[in-house]
Amino acid sequence: MSDFIFDDPLTGGSDAPAHHGGGFHKPGKIVCIGRNYREHAKELGNEVPTEPLFFLKPSTSIMRDGDAIVLPRQSGRVEFEGEIAVVIGSRLKNASESEASSAVSGVVALNDVTARDLQKKDSQWTRAKGFDTFCPVGEVSEGKHDLGNLVVITRVNGEERQRANTNEMVFSIPMLLSYVSHVMTLEPGDLVATGTPAGVGPLKAGDVVEIEIEGVSRVSNPVTGPV
Ligand code: ZN
Repeated sequence: MSDFIFDDPLTGGSDAPAHHGGGFHKPGKIVCIGRNYREHAKELGNEVPTEPLFFLKPSTSIMRDGDAIVLPRQSGRVEFEGEIAVVIGSRLKNASESEASSAVSGVVALNDVTARDLQKKDSQWTRAKGFDTFCPVGEVSEGKHDLGNLVVITRVNGEERQRANTNEMVFSIPMLLSYVSHVMTLEPGDLVATGTPAGVGPLKAGDVVEIEIEGVSRVSNPVTGPV
């Protein structure tokens, strides 16, 4: 599991193997947005929220391209959620949407792996979203992107399962960042995952799941059974 030790921006140390590139640092926090595509909210029987819904994933859930998602014994249904994540490049507190937009330093494919049965059972989602290996992230595509026109695609064993454009989001990425920054300071290196579109589904041991932001970033991971 040494693969999910990254360059540490605080110490400048590098325990990372070979270098995955992409300028990625282990984030202080991972903020995730829930129910930000109408069709996805509907498929799980939820209303579209009137204001953004967000939660945190622990940074210990992160791993890289090629590492295995481990199905935990506590869950009978683990699902993929293909998402577009943004990397925060400069500190955001009480930021406007345009300030938030300027503070994004890169974009990265992220899989918000979720134990759906535990999510339904628990009144909050830390357990369902927080298992080790539940946050595969790809290489960061640095620089400016058109945040209102990115396409996210999920494939399981090569078959397309999700596809959506950020222009279908309920709340835009700059709006989400501004909103979150009025609650908690977003710091350089933090990741914000912007929600999954319709088409989520279960993973089983032996599957390979790939999230791609079209032409920008991708992450592919095998799935292994409980250990
Ligand atoms: Zn999600």
